[in-house]
Amino acid sequence: MKSIAVFCGSNFGSSIAYRDAAQDLGHQLTARKIKLIYGGTQKGLMSVLADAVLKSGGEVHGVITTKLHQLGHAHPALKKLEVLRSMRERKARMIELADAFIALPGGLGTLEELFEVAALVQLGEHNKPCGVINVQGFYDPLQAMLNKAIQEEFMKPDHRNMIEIQSCAADLLEALSKWNVPASNKWID
Ligand code: AMP
Repeated sequence: MKSIAVFCGSNFGSSIAYRDAAQDLGHQLTARKIKLIYGGTQKGLMSVLADAVLKSGGEVHGVITTKLHQLGHAHPALKKLEVLRSMRERKARMIELADAFIALPGGLGTLEELFEVAALVQLGEHNKPCGVINVQGFYDPLQAMLNKAIQEEFMKPDHRNMIEIQSCAADLLEALSKWNVPASNKWID
């Protein structure tokens, strides 16, 4: 894995543990010489993550929309920043640039991006690994929701299991490096 796209809150969240986790992930990426691909902003956890990579000497590639750029959200210290017209173009570009995807805690934007990359694997559109850092059990309800979807026969366990869930960055990076594309297709006979 040479580059990883990280999705995370454009707010900081209520607990210092979220900032610590973003910082830790940033340091782990730099230590492994993995380039960070992210939303290019100076807002919330996204800025904590980008700052951690930049301060530890790592590489950051931001991909932001024209609208957010005009609002002054772009991180001022980025050497590499692409400005694209829409969120759709921006997400497609991030998927193209990254070898894997990680979600830290976040809100609708983070959840939507995580589910998009996972749903695309399920449909065979790409075969890049994805996972979440389950800071203080933040993603436990997501696991419960996926279990419900399996129980009600809307998805297969393989497609829940392909979303790696680990409590720290080092364990998640290790799991993503061993990830295999799910063997089964999406549909339940
Ligand atoms: P949320 O979790 O709702 O705060 O949304 C965060 C996710 O949406 C990030 O992973 C970004 O990709 C995208 N996003 C939200 N706000 C911004 C912003 N100000 N600048 C760039 N991307 C953003």
